[in-house]
Amino acid sequence: MVSRVIPVEPFDLVIFGGTGDLARRKILPGLFRRYCAGQMPPEAQVIGAARSDMDDSGYRDFVRDAITEFAGPLSDECQQVDGFLDRVGYVTIDAQGEGGWAELKDRVRAELVHAYYFSVAPSLFGDIAERLHLHGLAGDDSRIVVEKPFGKDLDSARALNATLAKHFDEHQIYRIDHYLGKETVQNLMAVRFGNVLFEPLWNAQYVDHIQITVAETVGVGGRGGYYDTSGAMRDMVQNHLMQLLCLIAMEPPAKFEPDAVRDEKLKVIRALEPVEPHHIVRGQYDKTADAPGYRQDVENPRSFTESFLALKLHISNWRWAGTPFYLRTGKKLKARTSEIVVVFKDAPHSIFGADAGRHRNVLAIRLQPNEGMTLDVTIKEPGPGGMRLVDVPLDMTFADALGPEAEQATEAYERLIMDVIRGNQTLFMRGDEVEAAWAWTDPIIAGWTARSDVPKPYDQGGSGPEDSLMLMHRDGRRWRELKA
Ligand code: NAD
Repeated sequence: MVSRVIPVEPFDLVIFGGTGDLARRKILPGLFRRYCAGQMPPEAQVIGAARSDMDDSGYRDFVRDAITEFAGPLSDECQQVDGFLDRVGYVTIDAQGEGGWAELKDRVRAELVHAYYFSVAPSLFGDIAERLHLHGLAGDDSRIVVEKPFGKDLDSARALNATLAKHFDEHQIYRIDHYLGKETVQNLMAVRFGNVLFEPLWNAQYVDHIQITVAETVGVGGRGGYYDTSGAMRDMVQNHLMQLLCLIAMEPPAKFEPDAVRDEKLKVIRALEPVEPHHIVRGQYDKTADAPGYRQDVENPRSFTESFLALKLHISNWRWAGTPFYLRTGKKLKARTSEIVVVFKDAPHSIFGADAGRHRNVLAIRLQPNEGMTLDVTIKEPGPGGMRLVDVPLDMTFADALGPEAEQATEAYERLIMDVIRGNQTLFMRGDEVEAAWAWTDPIIAGWTARSDVPKPYDQGGSGPEDSLMLMHRDGRRWRELKA
């Protein structure tokens, strides 16, 4: 199946921090893939803007290298990057001074859609926003894209929102959470709201519990200094897992439109109950004979920051009262996998007797790897010998069903950047959502800090601390096995 690509309007995209790691690994290769897909009109222009002293030609070399390294396997039509590089330019700029702004003003075409990607440290957001205005680069329809982390608590998120609000309206601000750009996440909404099959069962009466797992095999890598001030709660749960929770738990919005969707997500966050201390498991990966542990990686022998977190949550509303949500995320685990698992209740009565065993439907929504969904359904085991039941997965792996183009087209960043150009905020977080998520997160962190909770050590390459398994076992449940 060939995916339909609708070109966007001509645009100017300025990437502040255009020489940084995120630009190199995600933004530039993503834009190139959109160019290859025919989505970028000939008049479009991408301008890197950063501190490094460089000219257009130097930056094009940088972009070419980034594409070679990170754009992934390319189709035959896309072996020539020069056509894309013709649209790329660079301005040396000082976010905190006046250097480079006049040149940028000369390059940005006011009559086109223009977007400014703030791929820099959040401490520079205010400076850049202010200078965009000062130099006449921002109009009523300019868009800005801001990256995580959006604050480190409610106060800092409010301050950041206030800084941006001084210069831009909410409809101009695109707070990126790349999890929302994943094909499967949008498919989750298609499955929920495009079929009659699931929605009638999508509630506490039929759903036993829901698990959300984001597991990584890597450790903190070179980000130790940042990570140790953040931990799994701030780095993953407050944003990515919370967004997944919202989409799985929200009421059907009246329309698939930005505020309709975001209003419903906000209601979910506001309905979250405070989390009981015994429903929180924090862990740190331990050292092994040949690999450093978390504390060595962050070079902080007394660190109490968690590299693993599991939580049991309740949502206080009619739909979900009584159905627990279990969230877990961690580093140095057995497999790199992100998945949402909806475990339905047992049939109310088994007509097949005790020998048939216990069976239940499980809908697993995989974000990575191999984006797709499986639905376990119970059928009769083939063959003679009576009524033995077996659970088999109906596999909806997109690449299998829709062809390799489906997989090709699914990089989150490129989709989200195109949404910015289109002016569609549905998959971006609104300011009040981010603040509500921090308002829920802050007391949990304050609680474990006040109790001086020490994270439990866990084995590298495993499933996290034993207590995380116990969190489920106590309720007669278990985590779905981590599989790559
Ligand atoms: P980086 O340190 O690799 O790059 C920073 C960029 O900002 C460089 O291009 C640098 O020249 C520019 N810069 C710094 N000070 C400047 C100044 N005064 N004036 C003009 N330009 C200046 O950072 P990164 O990893 O690319 O991250 C950028 C942002 O994206 C950060 O907010 C980060 O938290 C966020 N983010 C990064 C990743 C990632 O994978 N790298 C993932 C999620 C979010």
